[in-house]
Amino acid sequence: MIQFLKDIRNKILNPVRQRRREQEKKDKVIAAQVKTETIKKLIEGDFYFSHKGHCVCCEQEVTFEAHDSWLRDSYFCMNCRCKPRERALMKTIETYYPNWKNLAIHESSPIKRGASVKLKKYSKNYLATQYYPTKEFGSIVDGFRNEDLENQTFADETFDIVITSDVMEHIYNPEKAFKEIGRTLKKGGAHIFTVPIINRHMKTEVWATLGENGQPNFLKAPEFHGNPVDPNGSPVTMHWGFDIVDFIKKASGLDTDVVDLYDKEHGIMGVYNEVFVTYKTK
Ligand SMILES: [Zn+2]
Repeated sequence: MIQFLKDIRNKILNPVRQRRREQEKKDKVIAAQVKTETIKKLIEGDFYFSHKGHCVCCEQEVTFEAHDSWLRDSYFCMNCRCKPRERALMKTIETYYPNWKNLAIHESSPIKRGASVKLKKYSKNYLATQYYPTKEFGSIVDGFRNEDLENQTFADETFDIVITSDVMEHIYNPEKAFKEIGRTLKKGGAHIFTVPIINRHMKTEVWATLGENGQPNFLKAPEFHGNPVDPNGSPVTMHWGFDIVDFIKKASGLDTDVVDLYDKEHGIMGVYNEVFVTYKTK
């Protein structure tokens, strides 16, 4: 009889207990993972998503991650740290000018990330300029040619492509700048740029004018954005609306396409990612 009970324990109860212990172990591992994920989300913010895709800036298969619902500034390529508007800009350049590597490109105020890095690395004829208002224009300062977009020292029809990445909201006389950019473009060329269209359903507003001593004279609440060559940042001078297209036409005579991409595979989602292509016909 005792042997019979032992058999039941060995053949039936023990395997059941063993399976239960294994299940409990698995549950503990899952619980620990859930806890880690929850803590991670609490630390990084409520919003979190991540997906695989292809980054057009670093040309790698990457993970895109966002930790904030404001995707414009938080939705990064985890390889090169570029932002969605920079990927939208690069994708638009490649769509309009698949041969961009062989073209004459002027980029005003490049950054150390995104499209700027790729353009510099692969273009055979790429020129980067920065704005140093107290230095001589046309000269080289800190490795960059010093240029004022409103009064450029370049000859007419010098470039195939002019790039500005969130620069045109910092110009005091954008009419002059758009006209100058148009002048320096070759026929068949284009100014390809991003600019935040803050006034989604309103006309463009002038936010600041040039005050005395070169300081901004804000008409509304003062606003500054980061500037890689000026620790004080750049004053926001314009709150653009979509009438920017008419503004450019009036300033330079050129037409502008508005490219609005929604492309998860390439990590382009969120607002204010429009790319503008102002083109000079042949
Ligand atoms: Zn990347």
